[in-house]
Amino acid sequence: MNNQIVAFVGLGNMGGPMAANLAKAGFVVQAFDLSEHALEQAQSAGCKTFTTAAAAVEGADFVITMLPNGQIVESTMLGSGDSQQPGLLGLAKDSTLFIDCSTVAAESSRAIGKVASAKGIAFIDAPVSGGTAAAAAGSLAFMCGGDSQHVERAKEVLSVMGNNIFHAGDIGAGAVAKICNNMLLAIHMIGTSEAIQMGVKHGLDPTVLSDIMLKSSGANWSLEKYNPYPGVAEGVPASRDYEGGFFVDLMLKDLNLAMDAAKSSAASIPLGAAARNLYSVFRQADASNGRKDFSSIVKMFGELPN
Ligand code: NAD
Repeated sequence: MNNQIVAFVGLGNMGGPMAANLAKAGFVVQAFDLSEHALEQAQSAGCKTFTTAAAAVEGADFVITMLPNGQIVESTMLGSGDSQQPGLLGLAKDSTLFIDCSTVAAESSRAIGKVASAKGIAFIDAPVSGGTAAAAAGSLAFMCGGDSQHVERAKEVLSVMGNNIFHAGDIGAGAVAKICNNMLLAIHMIGTSEAIQMGVKHGLDPTVLSDIMLKSSGANWSLEKYNPYPGVAEGVPASRDYEGGFFVDLMLKDLNLAMDAAKSSAASIPLGAAARNLYSVFRQADASNGRKDFSSIVKMFGELPN
């Protein structure tokens, strides 16, 4: 049993299994989420559950947030200006290390970092890559931004949830690395989808075509680990009608963050912009697409077998 306390706020598809792995490793996990269901799941995974975030962070050595977006992370950390809803930064011990693992704009991380630094509180951004399977397996990649001493200290908890921990630079650098990665992911998922669909339209078997491209110069992660065409790979969202996985809505959120990041740095991202537009059209065609895995974009380029 490890006597260190980890407060965990946001126990969804990613945060739930991450908190469970910390509890399994012997940390005292003080968990909070707005959802009753998420709290029940966390309790059965060995976490102590609380009815407010403020109660969950009491006495915590580490506070980890895994929340939907930057606005929620900022209001959770900094408060809403209302004394009834103080930000978590003002409630922890002096020695508490705050780690935000959510995917947010670098500006959100920097805004929190500024307040934390003024209060003498340690904070890093540490968004993740790997998806829900890696969250459950404890094999996430963390992209950290912040002071190197804080990143070193965070490894005690991050190494329980992941096996690749990178220090990208100052606060906000983790967020930038994550957005660059996901923009590239969207681009190769779309490219893989359209290539397979064109082959299928010419009568090729999608498994044979995928094998050929995997051994050729078109090989990429979407093709190898996350084939979007049904029946080609087992255990991927395409084999279960695109349920679970990484939602189209979250990919669209990340591509919008990429557009903002490009604007603020005058970076040129024509393919990132095209990917954002395609996901947006796909989402608008049918709102239920938003809660399907992002590999379902393959449907835009042709019919799928029944
Ligand atoms: P999710 O919607 O499954 O979980 C979010 C959780 O936060 C929910 O349980 C919700 O009830 C809770 N929540 C919302 N507002 C809250 C608040 N104010 N206080 C406490 N709890 C609150 O989302 P997820 O898939 O777990 O993603 C979480 C973050 O991780 C997002 O930023 C996402 O972009 C990122 N991410 C997701 C994946 C993935 O594959 N799902 C991969 C990498 C990164």
